[in-house]
Amino acid sequence: MTSPKPSVSAAGLRVPIVDLGREYASLKTEIDAAVTRVLASGQYILGPESKKLEERIAELCGAAHAVGVNSGTDALALALEGMGVGPGTEVITCPFTFFATAEAIVMAGARPVFADMEPESMTLDPERLAGALSPRTKAVIPIHLYGQTADMPAILAAVKGKEIHILEDMAQALGASQDGRPAGSWGRAAAISFYPTKNLGACGDGGMIVTDDEALAAQARKLRSHGADVKYRHDRAGYNSRLDEVQAALLNVKLDHFQTWNHRRTLIAAFYDRSLQDLPVARPRTRPGARHVFHLYTIRTPRRDRLHAFLKERGIDSGVHYPVPLHLAPALAGLGHKPGDFPESEKAASEVLSLPLYAQMTDAQAEAVVSAVREFFDRGPKE
Ligand SMILES: *Cc1c(COP(=O)(O)O)cnc(C)c1O
Repeated sequence: MTSPKPSVSAAGLRVPIVDLGREYASLKTEIDAAVTRVLASGQYILGPESKKLEERIAELCGAAHAVGVNSGTDALALALEGMGVGPGTEVITCPFTFFATAEAIVMAGARPVFADMEPESMTLDPERLAGALSPRTKAVIPIHLYGQTADMPAILAAVKGKEIHILEDMAQALGASQDGRPAGSWGRAAAISFYPTKNLGACGDGGMIVTDDEALAAQARKLRSHGADVKYRHDRAGYNSRLDEVQAALLNVKLDHFQTWNHRRTLIAAFYDRSLQDLPVARPRTRPGARHVFHLYTIRTPRRDRLHAFLKERGIDSGVHYPVPLHLAPALAGLGHKPGDFPESEKAASEVLSLPLYAQMTDAQAEAVVSAVREFFDRGPKE
């Protein structure tokens, strides 16, 4: 590279990929008060804050019940177990996702079966899903990747009339909807993550299951508390997987600002869209009728690795979500897949790059991202 190497962007700004410290600073007084209140209460597990958060999240998702657990991964695994997924069964998902989606299937004792993504939305392709169904298929996990729901009407149609449960992986899409119907209200259940960088993030791990099914909610409550719904009556071996009161209290504070934050994300995404439209990159496609909450703003270019490095030199962080499609993950080598099995996911894994996007980002930071991306493409293919 022959250009000078400034350590910050042209505008003199460093732009991290997320800025959780700034998010906390914006609510410090409220969060500190909420946490202190819980500490003083002496009730740290399954108290009023968790109950309140469960009610609020259920409502946001258009679901009757919510069960707080200690991560999004556990939300997926416990929901699967609650649906009767276990050894001898198969669960179909898309290989283009975070590892936890497939990991939860393994945790539940079932076999992950992959169906490739649909390239425009980058979510599970309903036709390929139909082709992957077998008599052992017990459940399907569509992923609402990057903040937009998978094609739920077509996915529901693909399993219609069959005894197959749909579990939405909405770790990246709390607040999203399609045709006015919220993420979390399409499947038999849905799994939410409160991992710190998610749109609604805790200061630690946390997750939640939402469902309309009362029996499934009861089963999940039991599983999260050592298989007991009455103290010391353990009907089965379960887990210790509860959302604690400190996390619930600060999530309740952040939830008051959640819609404002998601709105700010969509404004930044719209700015990126306008500013990058003449460049040779694929921008996120929002389906008609979809409310995309832009957990990530992910572009695609075959020159991804060079762009990633160029931005880094200008003090702008970007991320690759995800570099390895799950059928090629070493942990799942036992499934016997090889390169070429899921070409859309493999191509995406080599092209995707997420630009910084978070509610606390300033306009100047967003402008710095755009000018650096433009500079890269202005310099042409040698860069
Ligand atoms: C973050 C994430 C998970 C796992 O959530 P954790 O709370 O980190 O366990 C699962 N699926 C997807 C798509 C995710 O992005």
